[in-house]
Amino acid sequence: MRPPLLNPLFAPITSLAGIGPKQDRLFRHLLDREDTARILDLLLHLPASVIDRRARPKIRDAIPGTVVTLEVTVDRHRPVPGRNPRAPHLVYASDETGDVVLTYFRAQPGYVEKLLPVGTKRYVSGTLQMFDGIPQIVHPDRVVDEAGFAKLSGIDPVYPLTEGLALGSVRRAVAQALQKLPHLPEWISPEVIRRCKFPPFAEALNRVHIPVELTDILPEGPFWSRLAFDELLAGQLALALVRAQLRRPAGDRHAGDGHLRSKIIDALPYALTPSQRQAAAAITQDLHQPVRMLRLLQGDVGSGKTVVALLAAAAVAEVGKQAALMAPTEILARQHIKTIAPLAESAGLRVAILTGREKGRERRDILARLAEGEIDFLVGTHALIQDDVAFKALALAVVDEQHRFGVRERLALTAKGEAVDVLVLSATPIPRTLVLTYFGDMDVSELREKPAGRQPIDTRAVPDIRLQEVIDAVGRALKAGKLVYWICPLVEESEMVDLTDAAARFESLKARFGEKVGLVHGKMRGPEKDRVMAQFAAGEIGLLVATTVVEVGVDVPAASIMVIENAERFGLAQLHQLRGRIGRGSEASTCLLLYKEPLNEMSAARLKAIRETTDGFRIAEEDLKLRGEGDVLGVRQSGLPGYRIARPGVHAQLIAQARDEALRIMKDNPRLKGERGQALRCLLYLFERDEALPLIGAG
Ligand code: ADP
Ligand code: MG
Repeated sequence: MRPPLLNPLFAPITSLAGIGPKQDRLFRHLLDREDTARILDLLLHLPASVIDRRARPKIRDAIPGTVVTLEVTVDRHRPVPGRNPRAPHLVYASDETGDVVLTYFRAQPGYVEKLLPVGTKRYVSGTLQMFDGIPQIVHPDRVVDEAGFAKLSGIDPVYPLTEGLALGSVRRAVAQALQKLPHLPEWISPEVIRRCKFPPFAEALNRVHIPVELTDILPEGPFWSRLAFDELLAGQLALALVRAQLRRPAGDRHAGDGHLRSKIIDALPYALTPSQRQAAAAITQDLHQPVRMLRLLQGDVGSGKTVVALLAAAAVAEVGKQAALMAPTEILARQHIKTIAPLAESAGLRVAILTGREKGRERRDILARLAEGEIDFLVGTHALIQDDVAFKALALAVVDEQHRFGVRERLALTAKGEAVDVLVLSATPIPRTLVLTYFGDMDVSELREKPAGRQPIDTRAVPDIRLQEVIDAVGRALKAGKLVYWICPLVEESEMVDLTDAAARFESLKARFGEKVGLVHGKMRGPEKDRVMAQFAAGEIGLLVATTVVEVGVDVPAASIMVIENAERFGLAQLHQLRGRIGRGSEASTCLLLYKEPLNEMSAARLKAIRETTDGFRIAEEDLKLRGEGDVLGVRQSGLPGYRIARPGVHAQLIAQARDEALRIMKDNPRLKGERGQALRCLLYLFERDEALPLIGAG
């Protein structure tokens, strides 16, 4: 149960003065809360910048275009003249060095007179402008008297806003929310407090919202860092608590004697690479451990992760248990089943696919067989985590391209069995810091070498003024019977624009090359997509125009040429993923990166990097350098999904420290007992990572 101490923080923000239903709706939107926005959400909504009002020049010395606070005497008013409501109400004021005009548009009658009575002294703060040679402030942000000035902070926080919500409303709400902050016990150990020089939680929160120095709101500063550490510690501790519970019942081992696996290996038309063998061995070992497996299998596109996943599935099937593989797209799921099915069959492993496309009778039939244990390995999309999908004995969850799924989806899949082992497949090498954030301590296997017989890819950058030459070259390649991808750019995440571009290119290429041209895009229905892909794989279509739906996993080994339009718009990881679609067969491949001139520095650096190497690990490192960690996972630069305060670029160091602290806690006080335990429980509730607490009982 949540400590009652925290109740004030979980009260709805409508309990604050001035927040009615309309404001509540705006705040809910701002704070990304579906049901109720709470005081806590408000407190964790941190400022993005500040306005510095500390400059207090005389009028004569005030610099136009800057924010100033002037001490003035109000001389006279010129109210809105006659019936011209568009004209402003002007207030003339002065100090001993000159005059200033304060301008109010559409003010309530009487409001300005009351705010700035003639003959009084006022402190007025806002952006000074020159208008016809006269200093002017339009709608001063602050107008206060002597008493008000004494309380005026010289630095105002500026919050991220949402349409319809004024900065002042957010500031006032936050100020009230800070008043509700109870005295909380310290949850960080004294050593860490000392080493990191962290201020107390309440001080950190207050200083970020009511900055005293301009630097107080910087994410790398002590106050924000303290809060980020708290958030990260809550995350790491929750992961550690869950993980500590992930022991399996004694004797319940998930890997069998290897009879199915050796059948599969015998049926392979190739030899496993050494790193595939190592990964499979590591997985077998994990499956034998009394603690559940949490392993990340990283390897470039085409490095052969699917067969390793299949071997893992076979291992659990050997003891009569089931496995599931969840892929982010339907194309990918079908690709997997295509690789898996023939191999599985040769070993007598029963596989099936479940996506949004299996419906009605077919779906019911799959679900029935799954519940009966007649399916050993189910491959699919997030259709796998629907409520009515029930396994007889799910023991292994394989999640492909994990970063497209949230942690919630991953948990939803593992919740469908008992003590389910988890294998995550990723073609994008994930930086260690991010692995820690989302998985805590996860084991990692890497597929570093490429399967034998792969040809290098010749990658070239070509300015798009040479488009015609490229089209001619594609024409020659088609004549020679080659298979060509033509990738159209992703525009601003908008699928519609995306589609228009691809469709237009499709039409123009079709006009030139006729029926040999096909089109596949994200808006297409599944069966249609598959049909086009199958035609391409069979060589009936020679030139496939595609949006980035082919980004992940599509496997047509015969394709040996790829043209990427507007390559300058793609991220490095994405270019790498795309290019991974070629160079899979025995033929030498070519990748042409068409770009629009002029290239900015970042795009030029990306195109250079992609030309220089095909090693995904090197590309990931380069990408990290160029863009920061957030983008490696395709998330916004600013944050980690599921984290409000911690920033991967800024707080990477803190992630490791939070993990160390969590591990220490798990060692010393795994059931969170006593005073410190209580404090840590507070922390978990505060950052809503309390899901593990029921597992360890009351403190
Ligand atoms: P990934 O999922 O890592 O991108 P896949 O598992 O789809 O790669 O494998 C890509 C292709 O390489 C598949 O056609 C697969 O059959 C083939 N393959 C996998 N392992 C090997 C190997 N050791 N030798 C040769 N080909 C392999
Ligand atoms: Mg794959």
